[in-house]
Amino acid sequence: MKKQRHVFCLMMALSFHAWGQLRVGTFRADVTPPLGQPLIWVMPTSKIEDPLLAKGIVLEDRGQRYVLCAVDWCGLSNRSYRLLRDKVAQAAGTTPERVALQTLHQHTAPYVDGDAYALLEQMGRPVVRFDEAALVELADRLAKAVGSAVGAMKPFDRVGTGEATVERVASARRLPAPGGKVVIRFSTDGKKPEMAAAEEGPVDRMVKTVTLAQGEKPLVRLHYYATHPQTWCCDGRVSADFVGAAREQLEKDEGVFQVYFTGAAGDVTVGKYNDSSEEKRAGLAARMLDGLKRSDAAAQWTAVQELRWKTLPLVLPKKLATKEAVDARLAEAKGTEDEAARYRLTIAAAFGQREEPLTTSALSLGPVRIVHLPGEPMLEFQRFAQVVAPGRFVAVAGYGDIAPGYLCTDRAYEQGGYEPGASNTTTGAEGVVKRTLRDLLGARGR
Ligand SMILES: [Zn+2]
Repeated sequence: MKKQRHVFCLMMALSFHAWGQLRVGTFRADVTPPLGQPLIWVMPTSKIEDPLLAKGIVLEDRGQRYVLCAVDWCGLSNRSYRLLRDKVAQAAGTTPERVALQTLHQHTAPYVDGDAYALLEQMGRPVVRFDEAALVELADRLAKAVGSAVGAMKPFDRVGTGEATVERVASARRLPAPGGKVVIRFSTDGKKPEMAAAEEGPVDRMVKTVTLAQGEKPLVRLHYYATHPQTWCCDGRVSADFVGAAREQLEKDEGVFQVYFTGAAGDVTVGKYNDSSEEKRAGLAARMLDGLKRSDAAAQWTAVQELRWKTLPLVLPKKLATKEAVDARLAEAKGTEDEAARYRLTIAAAFGQREEPLTTSALSLGPVRIVHLPGEPMLEFQRFAQVVAPGRFVAVAGYGDIAPGYLCTDRAYEQGGYEPGASNTTTGAEGVVKRTLRDLLGARGR
């Protein structure tokens, strides 16, 4: 009898560990491209200013695992995105649907679409491409770091939610102009006096921070802020840019693992405040760091015992909706001498041919809802996600599989301008994305 009771207690203790406890592990992998590998779009890497990292967490609840991963790359799409996501899933002992792999979208980093590379090779017009073996090696390094995180998970029992304004960083890319038109202010346009002087425009100045803690001890902080993190680009130098600098400085200062995600920043840049100079870049990093620190300090705490995860497919209307349209785009690419233009035209055709739905997901943890979207969603989608889940702390990460390019509002497609022109989707995307956000956030009909 005594022995039986002992066995029973042992089983209870084991099941408590496996089923009754939330756990988190952190991982960090170097994903700096080797010299010579292309940065956006086809510019070979010539100098590493600072390393690119993939940082994230593995979460465990009742034996099920989930991964959030933020990669210091400009973009990953189609088969290249799946390569990394699937290896991460395998290393974490979970399914690809339970992995949110998002890039930060720095422009001093690679933009890799394996489907576009394959089409370019088929047409006999290859571009400077990211070497497949180098990509696999990098994905394996990331997977190994994820595997180590699984072996070193720690229990957590509280979630902190904080937010703070980030001053003079984000500014609107689309500025209203007479006749219902827009003027586009690009990331480095602060060098033009009239663009630096123009209004900040609609942005979300709040950085949102989710902290996982065991008792009083913070284990990891996840930050969400919506802007293109681009101060300079396209000259062969690699950098995690000002957001990477702020993140790593904060990690040193606080001694807590830090992850930064780019929000719905499709139409948001640092253009008003940036002229590509070192001083402006240092200023942006300092103001971002200041905002992150105040957001950490603002944390309010809730006890948590379980998490929920929801995944939904996303099928968007395509700009190239017919075989003829795709073929015409491929023919245009074939006849183009400029390699970057040829790659971009082919990326659009690759999305036109794509059959597999994109993936969206939402993590619920106490009051926290973290939404993961593909592509480059316009800010409106972040605002909408926050509105359809009142009373919740909604953080949005964009830039999962970037195959669709910009996710624009119908009004933006009507107005035209840079983002709808560059997008691989078209009018109607807004309704599809918003319906999906409602379903992800459990707010259908509200
Ligand atoms: Zn972009």
